[in-house]
Amino acid sequence: MGRPSGLVTTQEVQAARGMLDAARRVVVVTGAGMSAESGVPTFRGEDGLWKSHRPEELATPGAFQHDPQLVWEWYRWRRGLVAACEPNPGHRALSAFRRRHPETTVVTQNVDGLHQEADRLEEVGPSVSPVLELHGRLFGDRCQGCHRRTEAVRTPDPDLEAALPRCDECGDLLRPDVVWFGEGLPRSVLETAVDAARTADICLVVGTSARVQPAASLPLATTGAGGTIIEVNPSPTPLSRRARVTLRAPAGELLPVLLGP
Ligand code: NAD
Ligand code: ZN
Repeated sequence: MGRPSGLVTTQEVQAARGMLDAARRVVVVTGAGMSAESGVPTFRGEDGLWKSHRPEELATPGAFQHDPQLVWEWYRWRRGLVAACEPNPGHRALSAFRRRHPETTVVTQNVDGLHQEADRLEEVGPSVSPVLELHGRLFGDRCQGCHRRTEAVRTPDPDLEAALPRCDECGDLLRPDVVWFGEGLPRSVLETAVDAARTADICLVVGTSARVQPAASLPLATTGAGGTIIEVNPSPTPLSRRARVTLRAPAGELLPVLLGP
């Protein structure tokens, strides 16, 4: 085992590793902090702003109805940004852990696809359950009219920036295939996630401010059924006081130490 970073002591990491070793089932809940070291801005950090708009003003059905051009411009900017990002050592360590412990479930609030990219790099096979994406995917489009889903262009052509994308089938407006503030989550994904949280001995919570519901409640489903929470986050969150162990360090540095063989 390598040396932990930041304010974390070796004893704390050893304690968390012991708990993970003894667990039968682990659920991992990840948020924007998981991808921070890959260069993807979190919403609540200083880099979350775009042209002085806050994400909460842009990632809503109302904003899209009012000004689809502005919302699309923001998503194209985000796609360009994320297309240039790669999984960090934290993503890689988690994928490698799942390869060794296939009963582990990952539930992410991230839309960046970096867990899946890490799974590909770590050659995670089909016996491992796919990552549950609670908030959809940045690189997908969905038709407002016929709801058809399509793959998005990863690096949009700047010449087409001005045009609003339309559905090939019905001609209606396309929107990013993500869940916006005020919208419901995909039901079956959420049900599978709640089930995984309830049946896990340990919920490892990584890089989420635990302020967006219902994702923030998943760890409580684990503790409600007698399981425990381990939190990895450089800053305190509303969940911290419920966690058995809190590891105050960046995910990209800590997870390779915590989840390594
Ligand atoms: P958030 O922005 O509210 O909180 C990020 C959390 O990560 C904070 O608690 C912060 O202390 C922590 N953090 C920062 N750097 C970290 C690091 N290196 N290692 C570990 N933790 C770190 O994010 P959220 O809780 O995921 O909620 C925001 C919403 O925005 C979600 O619904 C999500 O869908 C969306 N979002 C997604 C992405 C993405 O796909 N990468 C990025 C931004 C926002
Ligand atoms: Zn359509």
